[in-house]
Amino acid sequence: IKIKITNIDIPVAFASAFEGEIIRRGDMQVEFDGSRVDCCELVQTMDASEIEDHKITVVGPEVDEMELGSKNSIAYVVQVAGKNMQPDFEPVIERKFHNYINCIEGVYHTGQRDMQRVRISKDAFNAGFRIKHIGEVLYASVKNEFDAVVDKCQVTIYTDPAECTRMRHEVAIPTFDKRDARLANLTDESVDVYYSCILCQAFSPSHVCVVTPERLGLCGAVSWLDAKATNQLDPNGPCQVITKERPIDERIGEYEDVNEAVKKLSQGALEDVSLYSIMEKPMTSCGCFECICGIEPFSNGVCITNREYAGMTPLGMTFPELASMTGGGVQTPGFMGHGKHFIASKKFMKAEGGIERIVWMPKALKEQVADRLNATAKELYGIDNFTDMIGDETIAEDPETLLEFLTEKGHPALGMDPMM
Ligand code: SF4
Ligand code: ZN
Repeated sequence: IKIKITNIDIPVAFASAFEGEIIRRGDMQVEFDGSRVDCCELVQTMDASEIEDHKITVVGPEVDEMELGSKNSIAYVVQVAGKNMQPDFEPVIERKFHNYINCIEGVYHTGQRDMQRVRISKDAFNAGFRIKHIGEVLYASVKNEFDAVVDKCQVTIYTDPAECTRMRHEVAIPTFDKRDARLANLTDESVDVYYSCILCQAFSPSHVCVVTPERLGLCGAVSWLDAKATNQLDPNGPCQVITKERPIDERIGEYEDVNEAVKKLSQGALEDVSLYSIMEKPMTSCGCFECICGIEPFSNGVCITNREYAGMTPLGMTFPELASMTGGGVQTPGFMGHGKHFIASKKFMKAEGGIERIVWMPKALKEQVADRLNATAKELYGIDNFTDMIGDETIAEDPETLLEFLTEKGHPALGMDPMM
């Protein structure tokens, strides 16, 4: 999906050339930071009678009224209507906000949902760029790219802190929870097709993600429902239907249909992939995985680390070091990139015994996935509070100390067969 250079009525340039632009603290006028204050970004499907096309409203202070260098709240809600619009398309449109806002000269965006971060540079501010222009960009881009489903589009941007808190907690989070719950009820067995995603081939030419209900794309941003919606919106686009009618090996999750699709979509670079193994024909990794898991031979387990964690792992490697040997669209048995959400999945390295193999994770990641991971461990193995058995950097950064801890806790991986 490409961004066309369009004539949007803003006082700075708008082009994909600005997408990689970074705004340093010293060059920034203001920032909005969902990890520190209440923020969110949301698309809502409305009835055509409820909204006015191209109406852009700012509720709260403009950039002029914010202190130089300050951290502020922001919540932008893009309401759309169209007879072909479906709520399933909302997250697909939302995910594009990152590209749209980044294409603005002097404006930077990362993250999504209620964890986005936006910076506006002093230069953009001095050129006259204001909050309302974010609305212009979102309006024009959504109308431009999603014209097949969006007939009318209205944007409201809240900067009033109380309104942002209300939008985040009363509107956005319940919406995100509802989306996640829909996905939680789907299993790989309950659907007839999977989807491919090749969005990352721009950087990793042979990389193909196979997205299933229980295994989202390794970037963490493309669920099976998102891939399905992307395919409906653009049948010739990055997500294609993959049938799953000819299983070869259910244990590792290998299908003839999946192999054929992957071979075709990787231009022959990949012959076969499994969905549920990290040792046998593992899925490839591009570069944007949220997490990497790698085998830890002393405990028969795996360590997982994530992008946010800068420290050492008991594998003797940091995230960047593991990333350099895992990425690039090649299969590296024993190491695999994956999304955070996949960690609690019943299909997580199912072929090697599943989540029981997890022996170490950074503390913050462990806390993030604890509820879901503990629920899966309880359901699959009857283990209570499984995360208490998993090491982290406050317990061990080397394999010997980790092994002592795992032995003391009676971690199940210690009794499992070696993976190599
Ligand atoms: Fe698509 Fe996979 Fe890239 Fe995510 S990591 S955008 S699912 S190809
Ligand atoms: Zn990628």
